[in-house]
Amino acid sequence: MTSKSLNLTERLTIAVDRLEKHQGEKKWAGLSEPLDSLILTILSQNTNDNLRDQAYARLRSSFPTWQEVVEAPVEKIEEAVRIAGLSKQKSANIQAFLKWTVEQFGEYSLMSLADMDDDEAIGLLTAQKGVGIKTAAVTLMVTLGRDLCPVDTHVRRISKRLGWVNEKTSAEKTFWQLRPYVPAGRGYSLHMNLLQFGRSVCQARKPRCGGCFLWDECRWEGKGINKE
Ligand code: SF4
Repeated sequence: MTSKSLNLTERLTIAVDRLEKHQGEKKWAGLSEPLDSLILTILSQNTNDNLRDQAYARLRSSFPTWQEVVEAPVEKIEEAVRIAGLSKQKSANIQAFLKWTVEQFGEYSLMSLADMDDDEAIGLLTAQKGVGIKTAAVTLMVTLGRDLCPVDTHVRRISKRLGWVNEKTSAEKTFWQLRPYVPAGRGYSLHMNLLQFGRSVCQARKPRCGGCFLWDECRWEGKGINKE
């Protein structure tokens, strides 16, 4: 049977199996505070992991508690996170999100999300300004171990190249379209492995198609342009 005659669940299963075979199964690290991860993910928008981490470290060292972040003049928050870019927008969103958190849950913690199902938690988080589906899904997956496969730039690009979604599908739509087909219990491993694969093999500009272990699954018309 060729991969063209397989349904999406079967094709995603082939991909997750092969990614784990070549890159190892990725295991969830365990429970942590979702609020910290969510603020980190807001900072990650349109920047790389290194600058995101530097901005987060500066924010936490300048304002050791979330209450201090809320009470600080917004310009001071902007200053602290400037290195990650879009600092005006990110600092306003962070302060607004923290205020909402304490109003909603009575504390600077999102641990109450653990009592909600995925859809309820996603709905609540994405109703807040600056929190998109990627931020919500990453937070729930990383901190509460929810079985989701968030779609960032790497996951979206690879999903298009493997023909899981079409060329014009947005990251948000890619998440919703793939969600029912992600093999149960494997969302975390699939997401983390797609990130690794996108950074090391299926790169945006120069994909290393020559040694690609998903070559036969790839439906991208540009595949093979770079034989590296
Ligand atoms: S063949 Fe090339 S474009 Fe296709 S998945 Fe592999 S690295 Fe990516």
